[in-house]
Amino acid sequence: MTTESELLATIPTGLYIDGRWRDASNGATFDVTDPATEQVLARVADATVQDGQDALDAADRARRSWERTSPRERSEILRRAFELVTERAEEFALTMTIEMGKPLAESRGEVAYGAEFLRWFSEEAPRIAGRYATAPDGRNRLLVVKRPVGPCLFITPWNFPLAMATRKIAPAIAAGCTMVLKPAALTPLTALLLTQVFEEAGLPAGVLNVIPTSHAGAVTGPLIKDSRLRKLSFTGSTEVGRRLIADSADQVLRVSMELGGNAPFLVFEDADIPAAVDGAIAAKMRNGGEACVAANRFIVHESVAEEFTTAFTARMAAFHPARGTEPASTIGPMVDAATRDKIASLVDGAVRDGARVALGGAALPGPGYFYQPTVLVDVPDGAGILDEEIFGPVAPITTFRDEEEAIRLANATSFGLVSFAFTRDLDRALRLAEELDTGMLGINAGVVSNPAAPFGGVKQSGLGREGGIEGIDEYLETRYVGIADPSRRD
Ligand code: NAP
Repeated sequence: MTTESELLATIPTGLYIDGRWRDASNGATFDVTDPATEQVLARVADATVQDGQDALDAADRARRSWERTSPRERSEILRRAFELVTERAEEFALTMTIEMGKPLAESRGEVAYGAEFLRWFSEEAPRIAGRYATAPDGRNRLLVVKRPVGPCLFITPWNFPLAMATRKIAPAIAAGCTMVLKPAALTPLTALLLTQVFEEAGLPAGVLNVIPTSHAGAVTGPLIKDSRLRKLSFTGSTEVGRRLIADSADQVLRVSMELGGNAPFLVFEDADIPAAVDGAIAAKMRNGGEACVAANRFIVHESVAEEFTTAFTARMAAFHPARGTEPASTIGPMVDAATRDKIASLVDGAVRDGARVALGGAALPGPGYFYQPTVLVDVPDGAGILDEEIFGPVAPITTFRDEEEAIRLANATSFGLVSFAFTRDLDRALRLAEELDTGMLGINAGVVSNPAAPFGGVKQSGLGREGGIEGIDEYLETRYVGIADPSRRD
């Protein structure tokens, strides 16, 4: 088992541009901090605007030769990367735990999930297909081919530092695109370890360029306005995503946006309550609540609200907050002080709005940015906490009287990423699948994310899908070739 200091000594801390590790052009670095101890873990090269340009230059230079590689060649590189990440699973897990905070068991889960995108898209690369048809009047042959969109810019968040990167890089490699990745400043180490894996897997120079920076807007802004860039894929907050969509209009970029959520978790009167409690714990507490798919509002039928709340609160009370490397830890710290303080202010606001604290309700003393698992009951309609993404271990519970009200409450948000519903009534489950404004729906399931399924939202939760057979389409253009059939000319 590698120790933390041995591991940190092996993780690259430079920029990766055109197949070479290097310092920032002005020699600057920024600190990466452990959110459980508030100690500095590493100093990482801090890309400048010039470094961003160099990264796009490299992606543009590599573009044509990479587009000409065979699907099988791209597939094998992805397969090797899958195997290397799997072999080095413990290194990835420990890196995520110390830079982001989640318990090791959760980090191991993310390694398996994140690696699976590499395997899934290694299998999709040789399956990119087109179409051949005869025009209705018989005079033309119609050939439809799929082409890589071209150089991409990826901007990823800190909450799933491995999976949010592989979910973009893997389909882009499979499709034949080159790319520049700007990982979150809070968690660049996982992305740098992944870059090392791609280098070992034989990815040619210039295909993947990685530029950690503490000046996200200044470095990526000029790239988004550069005519050589053809695609922007962003995972992060709706606020930043909205701004990036506006900036992308200049070059009419293809955009994929995986943005914020405000997931309703519906428990109907006919639900299997122990199963609903299990699902609620998974949907709320995975990643300490720091997930875009985290259940944000529990909406429970009034006849089962007490039974559900009692059992759910007991399970929430059993969580053990500690640094994620501690074997007993079941919830780590929040990623930084700002995230913890935002959670505290949402809870305080909910109490002012009339909610009652059934469990928790406060930050824990430091060092580390810990917040207690919290259950809020009697949360009134219109309370501010029901409108905002909490991004922490806080569960507000409200009640409903009938299905129509449940659907109205669930849809009363500008977000539409995922919804969860527990019911044993098949007709009702199918009605919900039709009536909820959501990109994804879990029926009697608290976790829906799967590399083989299309992940994404509607409304202000985003545009496009990642994963599944749909995921590669985000990196492909459709080109139509009309071919005259001389034998049919009259
Ligand atoms: P964020 O503040 O929007 O940051 C996300 C990424 O954007 C980071 O790399 C950040 O860089 C960068 N960024 C910030 N401002 C930018 C700008 N002006 N121009 C270009 N890049 C900029 O979000 P976050 O706090 O890291 O992540 C939490 C959010 O992500 C939540 O809303 C969550 O729901 C969402 N999320 C969505 C999904 C999904 O699939 N739908 C998945 C995970 C997370 P810095 O690190 O330097 O700030």
